[in-house]
Amino acid sequence: MFYPQLSRRAKYSSPYGSGGFFADYKQYANEIAEDCQHRCVYCDAKERENLGGDTFQLDHFRPQKHFPSLKSDPENLVLACPACNRFKSDHWPVGKSSTHTFEGSIGFLEPFKDDRRDYFEIGSDGEICAKKDPAAYVVKILHLNRPARKNLRRHRILMDEICAAFDAISVRRRGATEAFEVGEICKAEYLERVIELEDLNDQLRVSFSVLSR
Ligand SMILES: [Zn+2]
Repeated sequence: MFYPQLSRRAKYSSPYGSGGFFADYKQYANEIAEDCQHRCVYCDAKERENLGGDTFQLDHFRPQKHFPSLKSDPENLVLACPACNRFKSDHWPVGKSSTHTFEGSIGFLEPFKDDRRDYFEIGSDGEICAKKDPAAYVVKILHLNRPARKNLRRHRILMDEICAAFDAISVRRRGATEAFEVGEICKAEYLERVIELEDLNDQLRVSFSVLSR
């Protein structure tokens, strides 16, 4: 549900067909968005989730200010929501000559290499807890537990629970039908179960529609 493992495509499009980068890095917007599964690689918000109309942006993972040669390199581009992009800004606490993206407790996770689920744990209230370095640094610098994002994660958890409950009702409904068909239960009991399940289904639909607004 959170922080899927991402992988980059083998090859990004290029103006020459066989190599080189587009001078305007925004040409890679669609490809990067697809590779990032249309999620902010930092807070994990989805582009289509209710974000007040925010348009996601291309972030230079290694900031342009410190790595100007990577400005148009698609391998350095990630998708970010405007707030995370702003919070990250030019932060890059690791030495510029280092191939690492974090050292000890300081730095950033590489969303296409590090499995972020090894570093972050999401509580039932939507709060991100740091499991190991440098997660605490990332949470702090990017304000990943800002109320809007905690609510968004909580919302996603609730929607997932409601979908699971819909599935469970369908299973029970099929079970009741099968039990009636083989004579395990009488028609009265079958109808009683069906009515109970339909009531549950109606209640869930109300919750679903409220959460979907
Ligand atoms: Zn974000």
